[in-house]
This record gives sequence, C-alpha cells and structure tokens, in this order.
Amino acid sequence: MSENATDKTGRGALRLGILGAAGQLGRCLVRGIEEASDLELAFAATRDEIDLGDFERIGEWLDSQVGALPEVVINAAAYTKVDACESEKELAYRMNAMAPGEWARHLMERNIHFIHVSTDYVFPGDGSRPYREDDETEPKTVYGSSKRAGEIAVLGTDPNALVVRTSWVFGPGRNFVVAILDQAAKRRSGELEGPLRVVDDQSGTPTYAADLALALLELSRLGHASGDHARGLLHLRNAGETTWFGFARAILDDAGYGDLEIEPVATSAFKTAAARPAYSVLSCERAERLGITMRSWRESLVDYLASSDAPRELLSSNHANGVGSGDAPSLESQRSESAR
Ligand code: NDP
Repeated sequence: MSENATDKTGRGALRLGILGAAGQLGRCLVRGIEEASDLELAFAATRDEIDLGDFERIGEWLDSQVGALPEVVINAAAYTKVDACESEKELAYRMNAMAPGEWARHLMERNIHFIHVSTDYVFPGDGSRPYREDDETEPKTVYGSSKRAGEIAVLGTDPNALVVRTSWVFGPGRNFVVAILDQAAKRRSGELEGPLRVVDDQSGTPTYAADLALALLELSRLGHASGDHARGLLHLRNAGETTWFGFARAILDDAGYGDLEIEPVATSAFKTAAARPAYSVLSCERAERLGITMRSWRESLVDYLASSDAPRELLSSNHANGVGSGDAPSLESQRSESAR
C-alpha cells in the first residue's frame, strides 16, 4: 500500500519498524510485512545498521529514517544465548534490560507503539498449569532475570507498551529443529552412531517464528483499526504442549527419520551453565480474548519443514520411512541455543 493510501478503516496504512530484523522472529516479521498489502515496512534494523545497545544513537537514528516514522515498532532483538548469559551478565542486562527500556523511552516520545518480545524463562518453571500473565515471576537464570528486567524497564517507561512472552522458538536460523536434524543426518551418513538422547522431563510449547510474526502483525492491525493498541503483558505461542523428547520425535518422524531411535533422558543427564525450567507452558487466554489464536505446534512443524526456513540439506531424502541410526553426544548445546 502506498504511503498516502487509506485502508477500509479510514486510518491509512499501518507502518511498522522491526528491531532485530536478522533473527528468527525478525526475519519472519519483515517477510510478513512485505507480503501484506495493508502493511508498510518503515525500517528493518539489523546490528549492521544500529547496535541496539548504543543508547546515544537511538534518537538520532530514528529521526534519520527516510519516510514517515512507524506507528508500531516490534523488538525481536535480544541476547539469546542462555548459557553464555551466565558468564556475560553485563552484556545480557545491557541488551535484554537496559536497551529495551531506552528504546521504549525514545519511541514513547515519538508517540510510537512499542511491542517488546520476552520469554517463558521469567517464570520459575515449577508450575503445574499454564502460566498466566499475572502469575508471579521468578527467573532462575541470568537470561531470564535480564529479560524480566527488560519487561519492567519497558512497561515502567511506557505503560502503553506491550510485552509479548513466547517460548521454544524455531524459524529461519539456528534452533532445536536444525540441531536435531543435524544429529539425524550424521547418523544417517554413519558419522555418528547410537540413539539420540533428548530430555523428556521439561514441558513447554514449540512456537514457529512465522506464526508468532503473523500473530504480532494481526495484533498490530487490530490496534491500528481500533486506535487502541493492546498494552501490558501478553502470552503468545503455538497451541499444545510437549517435551523436548516429544518435539524431537515429531521432528524425526516428519523429516523422514522415523526409523532413528531416541532415548528419553532426565535433565540431570546433561550439565548446562543455566538451569532449564521443568514446566514452562504459557497460558494464552488473554490472547484468545483479544481475538488471537495460534494453530498447534504440530501443524506448524509440518509447514516449517516444507518451507525454505528449514535446512533442506538436512532433511532425509527418504521422507516416509528413512533408514539409519547412531550414537549420542549430548544435546546440551542444542537445548541451550533453543530453549529460550
Ligand atoms: P535470535 O537469536 O534468532 O535473534 C536475535 C537477534 O538480535 C539477532 O539477529 C541478533 O543479532 C540481534 N541482536 C542481539 N544483540 C544485538 C545488538 N546489540 N544490536 C543489534 N542487534 C542485536 O532470536 P529469536 O528470533 O529466536 O528470538 C526473538 C525474541 O524471542 C527474543 O526477544 C527472545 O528473547 C525471545 N524468545 C526466544 C525464544 C527462543 O527459543 N529462541 C524463546 C522465548 C523467547 P546477532 O546475530 O548479530 O547477534
């Protein structure tokens, strides 16, 4: 839609800016905007354009953007290396807590609605029913604490901002699905032997970045049409729940590695710098009341594997019934990069 065009609400096209445009979610957001006829991309910021932790540059950078400023900015950038955060506390807080707060201030001053993305890791992870937005937070890791501090910084600066928590994201980029496929392909080629070992005592919900992006864009549209953007805390994830073992089994089955064996193991089988939550399912009741529902993670996985987001070279050529098997290095690094 052209800059001066007006949509059916009479409010004009919705312009959005994306921070963290090279990440899994950021890429899906940019793509979603470019593919939608009623949305306009004001900017897609990657680290090359602006380091989000370079606070002095924020105002000047925003004002130097060509064309009108956006109505909504979505922050998909974060320091997401969960284990590395334990030893890089200062960097984690600068990027996950201070930067979102600074961006919230600069955006509020320009009357831009801010949507900031956070994580299930803000919760203690020992619950037995899905966590609601107003449940007590109690992060157990530096990553979780820094993200919680970011939530507080954003909403403390701009009470009209929206903080969206999500979980177990997979999309274009390095993630748990890619790690499992990599392990599977190495077993198929004979490079590794023995069953994969995957933890079966941590429950949560995988979320396809493309689905999350569409939900965030739909939420922005609703706010644009009504003139009243959602604010506060909101949980968004695909429907359903599983364990990492259940997720890995589904990945192998859908990618043509149904014959590969996986051994379910306890969390204690792997040592990680940062603790992982045993239970981190998020309740999406508020999102549903706002009119946002997301499909099941199982359906999303099928679509992801069929899409260009998936690592085509790692999919089995033998989709229905592959052959092969192998051994089991720790899946520690896979979980640390994906369980955020
Ligand atoms: P990614 O790690 O894929 O992307 C994060 C992006 O942020 C990267 O492109 C990274 O750039 C960028 N970034 C980091 N530091 C800076 C900086 N100082 N300046 C500019 N850019 C920077 O994250 P996801 O897409 O997976 O996650 C999106 C959001 O969802 C994050 O807020 C995350 O905390 C949250 N989340 C993610 C989960 C997951 O499982 N992945 C689970 C729950 C929540 P570079 O690559 O150059 O470092």
